[in-house]
Amino acid sequence: MSEPAKLVPPPLKNDCFALPADTHWTPVDEAHALLKERLSVCVGAEPVPLAKALGRVLAQDLSAARAHPPQPNSAVDGYGLAHAAVTEGPQSFPLVSGRSAAGAPFEGHVPAGQAIRILTGATVPAGVDTVILQEDVATDGKSIAFHGPLKRGANTRKAGEDVQQGDVILSKGRKLTPADLALAAATGVSEMQVFKPLRVGVISTGDELAEAGAVARVDQIYDANRPMLLGLVAQFGYEPLDLGRAPDDRATLKAFLDEAAARADVILTSGGASAGDEDHMSALLQETGSMTLWRLAIKPGRPLALGVWKGAPVFGLPGNPVAALVCSLIFAQPAMRVLAGRDWKLPQSFKVPAAFSKSKKAGRREFLRARIGERGVEVFGSEGSGRISGLSWAEGLVALPDEALEISEGDLVEYYPYSAFSV
Ligand code: AMP
Ligand code: MG
Repeated sequence: MSEPAKLVPPPLKNDCFALPADTHWTPVDEAHALLKERLSVCVGAEPVPLAKALGRVLAQDLSAARAHPPQPNSAVDGYGLAHAAVTEGPQSFPLVSGRSAAGAPFEGHVPAGQAIRILTGATVPAGVDTVILQEDVATDGKSIAFHGPLKRGANTRKAGEDVQQGDVILSKGRKLTPADLALAAATGVSEMQVFKPLRVGVISTGDELAEAGAVARVDQIYDANRPMLLGLVAQFGYEPLDLGRAPDDRATLKAFLDEAAARADVILTSGGASAGDEDHMSALLQETGSMTLWRLAIKPGRPLALGVWKGAPVFGLPGNPVAALVCSLIFAQPAMRVLAGRDWKLPQSFKVPAAFSKSKKAGRREFLRARIGERGVEVFGSEGSGRISGLSWAEGLVALPDEALEISEGDLVEYYPYSAFSV
């Protein structure tokens, strides 16, 4: 009788992130190029008054309704006169009675050889083309004395020197800043077309999840991704929609997605994005035919299930909180920017000396939880993608280049402060 075959354990994988030799892993740059090419704005437009426009995205080019400044005015407190009457050396000019102040212009004509008191922001009266600073003159209230020469046009602002009427002041796709509101107001614009806020629905998936604050069974973990993703969406300036937790049950998850598609413009889910038995997100997206399972050449967070559910783009993020955050920042953030009506733009990174050393595999980009310390950028001690403490410890991410193998202390590495994703 032959002996029963012994169960042989699979070869130990000491690097669970090893890249299979025969599969194609999509590099970050390629994934970005695809998103850039395929995505476009998915929200409609609405008018808003200036006072409500901060942080909104322009849905039209805005043109100046009037010039800025509308008329020539004085840049300083001083005295206005005709430049042609000024000579070299010491001289004095009698003052006309009256003055030109901001909002209370002098209506008359100032004769050549005479001067007028003028204040900052006041319209330059007829006959005046040059202003002398009050600190540069002596006066007894009847006339002024000063030394020539003077530069023609000195201390005056020309009409329209900042903006001409009809100039495009702000372009479609611009997220309006406080300074933009100043520019719009100054040029007579008080209402504009902006894109409606992007509504982003957030769903967590997994039978193991319990709601924060609830009593959890020992085999349950608290849903950490939902508060994180809702927070990110709010920080990006979009409208977060909390759509709850779905169990690992295909029919129920389907109902969650239906509701999400009805209420949101974009759907972010976490968990169930790989190709395992309980990975219902990717399975459901697969059924729609719109699904692409992105096996990304990154660490952490390789599978990203992208699809469209009843018209709404879905980002099926990995369940691991670290991977979910990295994929949100690196892929969902620039994508949502375009969906909300803005241009394609990756966050601004900074080259900072590494305060760590590390070996990595070539062919994938690695994102490390990081923050700036005294010796440069420091990384969190553990790279485990379930370590939420490190996400919270970090103030940003370090991105190690695809091809890098060894990073030594002092090497310049790319650092993305978390704040770089929220502008
Ligand atoms: P999955 O992608 O569904 O296979 O999940 C990967 C890992 O992330 C598992 O250990 C999950 O328990 C965990 N996970 C999934 N969703 C969440 C969540 N919302 N909060 C915290 N951990 C999660
Ligand atoms: Mg799961």
